[in-house]
Amino acid sequence: MKTSHIEHIGIAVKSLDNAIPFFTKLLGTECYAIEEVKDQKVKTAFFLVGQTKIELLESTDPEGPIGKFIEKKGEGIHHIAFAVDNVNESLKEVEAMGITLIDKAGRKGAEGLNIGFLHPKSTFGVLTELCSK
Ligand code: ZN
Repeated sequence: MKTSHIEHIGIAVKSLDNAIPFFTKLLGTECYAIEEVKDQKVKTAFFLVGQTKIELLESTDPEGPIGKFIEKKGEGIHHIAFAVDNVNESLKEVEAMGITLIDKAGRKGAEGLNIGFLHPKSTFGVLTELCSK
């Protein structure tokens, strides 16, 4: 598999209202998009740092993946997303490498990207997302 760059880093936060002003100051740039991804039970806020985005994730449901993550581990880095040409092809490739997939096929994520997650148990504890346009 070939990745071109880190597309984004996902950070789980309890409150976007608290986190957005902080990251605006820290990064010296404005949040350029806020989007709810109903499917994932999250509200996301995006900052651009070079060609990499910082994606803040606030849970909209305690039973959702981010709600559960924060309950277990607290706020912090949730996942790293690598840009690839074609998510479906890359998922097949990593599966052939013996990596366990969370998503067998790409699905729609924030910003209209096609995304797929790899299981952290087979990626040294790092929840890894692949995404393509
Ligand atoms: Zn992501």
